[in-house]
Amino acid sequence: MPAAGPRVAFVYPNAYSVGMASLGYQAALQCMRRAGLAAERFFSYSAPVSWDSLAPAGRFDVLAFSIAFELDWLNILRFLRDAGIPLLARERGERDPIVLAGGVCVAMNRAPAWPFLDAFVHGEAEALAPALARALRAGERRRGAMLERLAGLAHVETTAHAAFDAESTESAALPDPPPWAWIESLDDAPCVSSVATPESEFGDMALLDLGRGCPNHCTFCWIGHNAPPYRPSSLERIERMADLALPLSDRLGLVSSAVGAHPEIDEICRRLLKRGARLSYSSLRIEETTATMLEALAQSGQKSLTIAPEAGSARLRRLLGKPFGDDAVLDIVDRALSLGMASFKLYFMTGLPTETEDESDEIARLVEKVRLRMVSAGKKSGAMGSISVNLGLFTPKPGTPLPRLANALDFAARARRLKRIERLLRRIPNTRIAASSPPLSGAQSILSLGGSETSRFLFDALDGSGGWRGAFQRWIRTRPDTRL
Ligand code: SF4
Repeated sequence: MPAAGPRVAFVYPNAYSVGMASLGYQAALQCMRRAGLAAERFFSYSAPVSWDSLAPAGRFDVLAFSIAFELDWLNILRFLRDAGIPLLARERGERDPIVLAGGVCVAMNRAPAWPFLDAFVHGEAEALAPALARALRAGERRRGAMLERLAGLAHVETTAHAAFDAESTESAALPDPPPWAWIESLDDAPCVSSVATPESEFGDMALLDLGRGCPNHCTFCWIGHNAPPYRPSSLERIERMADLALPLSDRLGLVSSAVGAHPEIDEICRRLLKRGARLSYSSLRIEETTATMLEALAQSGQKSLTIAPEAGSARLRRLLGKPFGDDAVLDIVDRALSLGMASFKLYFMTGLPTETEDESDEIARLVEKVRLRMVSAGKKSGAMGSISVNLGLFTPKPGTPLPRLANALDFAARARRLKRIERLLRRIPNTRIAASSPPLSGAQSILSLGGSETSRFLFDALDGSGGWRGAFQRWIRTRPDTRL
């Protein structure tokens, strides 16, 4: 790691276990270091000191946050406060670090954080890091001088000491963001874990990038409508990344928005298995899951399968851009059971536009059908697994088609529907349920769709009573027409 030049505190605004399970965070760290920046790891929920040198965050020249989840904006504010750095950009002086952020939340909606950040960076780390490093290292190592040089870059926007009034209800228009920087060819950009640690959410699995973007266009998903074009990784790049990953761990996690969409996924599975890897996938789209992919999981010793039927009815799934019926869900369950995978994790959403109560109840009916398949297979094999259901409340994303459809239910009615399905699911034996918290889903929607006025919402969640829940209740009480 270079000793001279500006020091960068690279912060994942969530726990160490979550940050180290993010290939995006790990890869961006490597990009900065390759570009010559002295970047060190920081995480939330622990003292704001470096995991690499124990140096406090306030001693660094730049605090760079990588943000992938809306609710983590609050962790950025907490981190700044714990590190003794003024929360508002306009209150920082020459002795304070530059505070900047990049990542998918910056692309989706950076408005909530506008007054708290000195700069936003727009693009993939591989495309941004060299120019950022040059600008930071090119001259005086003073905050003002470095910010000026950053402001001259095509994919960086500085907030120029944005105004903030905690009492005001006005929303100021923000400038259009600069274009998103992305790399056309992934071939010279290996993107693979550099650390595989049992303390990560994925255990000691090494992660490997299978491609960027997504060829699908699910109507609720930001990536499918706004991310740069789909770029699948070449077989050669995957082999080279496996060379780097396998010495860390024989457990490889293939990371992509849609693993099964890779045109050579079967060959990738075969080659990696041949090299002694045990495979997992970051996501499985039911209709894109090949027989080879499932067999590779079974050969890798996987005993459970995670799938996302998303909605209870085939009509709603078509509306979401996932055109498959219950038969496709049950077919993949049967295939997995026949390969020895006994447990299932199922992801669903409710509160979707146009969803009827009967359609939401179909979630419970589908889970019961899955359970009956498991019981029948268990009688033959003598092994009975369990079901985990992750039940979310739909949170609209900007730049996606689905939220444009009217939702006949207001937010409170959607929250009641979530509770109703949760109750139905709890009656199904051998089934664990993790349901969204409606106030947190509501907070996520406010941050996802709101304008610059939502910086006051963040501020209230930080300082007001009751955290997110309290801030959400106060927000909808005073702004009942908020879009959720
Ligand atoms: S497959 Fe996944 S990443 Fe791609 S558009 Fe659908 S939900 Fe989004």
